[in-house]
Amino acid sequence: MSEQVDIIDSIRDELGARDARLVAVSKTKPVEEIRKVYDKGQRIFGENRAQEMASKFEQLPEDIEWHMIGHLQRKKVKSISSFVHMIHSIDSFRLLEEVEKQAARQERIIKVLLQFKIATEESKYGLTEEDIPSFFDQLDQLNPGHIVISGVMGMASFVDDHKQIADEFSHLHSIFVKLKRQYFRDNASFKELSMGMSGDYKIALKYGSTLVRIGSLIFGPRNT
Ligand SMILES: *Cc1c(COP(=O)(O)O)cnc(C)c1O
Repeated sequence: MSEQVDIIDSIRDELGARDARLVAVSKTKPVEEIRKVYDKGQRIFGENRAQEMASKFEQLPEDIEWHMIGHLQRKKVKSISSFVHMIHSIDSFRLLEEVEKQAARQERIIKVLLQFKIATEESKYGLTEEDIPSFFDQLDQLNPGHIVISGVMGMASFVDDHKQIADEFSHLHSIFVKLKRQYFRDNASFKELSMGMSGDYKIALKYGSTLVRIGSLIFGPRNT
């Protein structure tokens, strides 16, 4: 039993005490390593590339919940729609529409999270608060039957400044509360706050994270 695999128990205990769940981020890692973590009881795995996730889905046990956590192009939705459990990275209405369309074709329901841009860095994808009214106007028209909007997701800036990271997670929490009040008041499915990675998940837990996406702490550093 390797050290990397054992750390997962302590992370899960830490999250469990806060009612948060672990998404083990397995991107770039081979199926043999994922299998070791699976054998420790982990069932939720996150990937950031559609093709890689589809290939791993084929090779690994069926009871894994696959979570797409990276930027997703509309043309790639089809390749994961038959099995993906949750897409954390809905960053446009057009992407949401495509997920609804492909989920309908598969006669499935796919859970989705709305990704918000909370970091100061230019490169981060995501909706902004200004996008909210038009997003929900369009959603009213679509009236989707094959997606469940289950919460929000965000990534903090890659900085050492704890205060800045805390402010960004606090911001995402406030967006979650605002959406809950305005659009999902009586909707128990809207409950997830996907935030926190290896370097900042302890801060994220303080701000109410329910889904923590941890890769390198479990699997070791990535080369890519
Ligand atoms: C890679 C990745 C993670 C995990 O990052 P680690 O620092 O390895 O824990 C979390 N979320 C997203 C969106 C990622 O792309």
